[in-house]
Amino acid sequence: MSEIDPGEHTVEQLQDELDEIDSPRELEGLLDAEKDGKQRKTAQEAIRARMRAVSTDEDEAVDEDTETEGEYRESADEIEDDESEAGDVDKSENLALDPGEYDIAEFGPAIKDVEDIDELDAILDAERAGEDRENVVTLIESRIEKVGESEADEDGEIDPTELSTAGLGNALQGIDDVERLQAVLDAERAGEDRDAATNLIEKRIASVQEEDEPDEIEVIPPEEKHPDLDHPTADKQYVKALDDGVYRDMWVYCETQAGELVDVSKEMLGKARELMDGYNDAYDEDERVVAVLVGSDVEKHAEDVIAYGADVVVYHEDDQLERFQHKPYTELFCDMARAGATPGESRGRETGAGWRDYDEPRYTVFPATNNGRDLSALVQGELDSGLASDCSDLYIEESMISNPAKTGRPGAKKEFERVLHMKRPDFSGFEYSTILCLDNPTREFHPQGASVIPGSFDLPEPDHDREGEIVEHADELDEEWLRVSVTNHDRLDEGVDLTGHDVVVAMGRGIGDSPTEGMELGLDLRDAFDDAALGVSRGIVTGAYEFAGHVTEYTAEERQIGETGQVVEPDLYIAAGISGAVQHKVGMDESETIIAVNTDPDARIRDFSDYFIEGDLFDVLPTLTAALESGELEPQELAADGGNNDD
Ligand code: FAD
Repeated sequence: MSEIDPGEHTVEQLQDELDEIDSPRELEGLLDAEKDGKQRKTAQEAIRARMRAVSTDEDEAVDEDTETEGEYRESADEIEDDESEAGDVDKSENLALDPGEYDIAEFGPAIKDVEDIDELDAILDAERAGEDRENVVTLIESRIEKVGESEADEDGEIDPTELSTAGLGNALQGIDDVERLQAVLDAERAGEDRDAATNLIEKRIASVQEEDEPDEIEVIPPEEKHPDLDHPTADKQYVKALDDGVYRDMWVYCETQAGELVDVSKEMLGKARELMDGYNDAYDEDERVVAVLVGSDVEKHAEDVIAYGADVVVYHEDDQLERFQHKPYTELFCDMARAGATPGESRGRETGAGWRDYDEPRYTVFPATNNGRDLSALVQGELDSGLASDCSDLYIEESMISNPAKTGRPGAKKEFERVLHMKRPDFSGFEYSTILCLDNPTREFHPQGASVIPGSFDLPEPDHDREGEIVEHADELDEEWLRVSVTNHDRLDEGVDLTGHDVVVAMGRGIGDSPTEGMELGLDLRDAFDDAALGVSRGIVTGAYEFAGHVTEYTAEERQIGETGQVVEPDLYIAAGISGAVQHKVGMDESETIIAVNTDPDARIRDFSDYFIEGDLFDVLPTLTAALESGELEPQELAADGGNNDD
């Protein structure tokens, strides 16, 4: 074994050291170490040159000693190149495949037949010493890697004495178990005991141990870390996330309106059933769909909720809960989720409600209705977790994550299991994002919660033979929760119906420069037709515009057109200042003729409009209105095209 580490020497110093070394084996070890270390071509050439010199000397000196001869031949085979002296063994004869005889196209298929790492190493050396083609070298290296991996995989063990150092390096990458690596190290030490090889194994052991035992992560509470900030929840110990909590089941908040179970509750139950059936199969678990009902007379829905897919129904009914209110509904849901624990006390398993033995739900799903949106945000905040709002798809699977905030260590990867993938439209509805709610190394984020857009999932067929457990959550309501009392309320008999009109004029955020004037121009245009209605995009409904009183009523949600609004199919649809997000499109693209007015020639709505008027709605709408009013333009002319014109 060589005492020299080539990496510690310049090539010049190495040259001097080499002159002192006569053992082919020691030189071979040095070559391996250089290949695994700095990989300097000049250093490798110097070592090879010394190997050639030594082998020539030995050739002369050694006569009959076959053992030494064998050793020498092995070394010579490795070092010989095209420039080898006449009379030396022709190395290519001993190669399983001489790369010099192949062009790159033929070489790819040919190398796949070589299964032996040492042979592959020899081929690699031959290529490097010969044409040294980058593509060919890459092909051989990846073949070495593949064979190395499969050798490690085949029997789960590797015998280092059968591998070159490079082959061993590749094979080690497939082993993550310290004990197995230690066995490989012992085998190497008992066998050839190559410095480079033992170094490699030791390094692999260190890196696996580092992965297994992540550095201790120091937890600094946010109050300590940022003392200058206001921390309103600092004293609310009970909203803190659990540590090493037990989480199970998918909870579905089943909303009722006017005493009826709303469709989206049934849709969510159907989806939850499907997800948890798949989950239980995949993870060999027996986790349940838990439906939550809160209201004044909700127990009557329990059987239905089970028919739509729930295994357990937890309900709380009280006359004081007739109308949805933020505080009591949130407190009740959270109390159920924490199994009735009181603030500051240990929760869940110790104090738990009898029907379950876990700390908090694994997943929660709420409807993205007006009330459901509020409740979902409040509940998830109170349970100190996150929420993906307005989702249109959900699925559960593993996720490999490299974000250091989640793994705890830069550069490390960690697989998270049983992750609820919450898909939602984003970027004005032009793209979808998938939101994951993952634990941090120092705190847990459960339940993984989503609100779901009504209509995203199919309405399931109820199965009235299904059986389930019905649990009453009977704790007293805290008077503090009922500080807000509803003294009067009115239910609209019917909202605004935008369907069934010949024409719909729809206004979008293009009115932004002068919102009231923009809406007035839309109303003027509507009035120029005999039978027209005025609608809006969601951009108007959720925008923070200040409208003068008389147009405000036209900007409410009841006039919203799109996925979460109304679906209209008039003869003529005029979209003014609307970009054409997919959620808007689905509410109007069955219209006979679509005219878009937009300042942006690349607005998405252009793709599905029959006429695109590039211009400012504050100029274009009055012009259209005037033309209609003067009779210069007939409404039928506008609507007549029916989609055959894209100018
Ligand atoms: P923007 O996207 O801001 O577009 C404004 C357009 O006006 C731009 O194209 C701009 O070039 C143009 N413009 C600006 N100034 C002028 C001017 N002076 N004259 C002419 N043009 C001008 N949206 C809906 O509409 N209906 C839905 O049902 C709906 N449901 C949704 C559900 C979910 C879950 C989510 C996440 C989103 C939903 N949205 C819905 C919102 C949707 O994604 C878009 O954000 C919204 O449609 C954008 O409204 P907009 O086109 O008015 O505004």
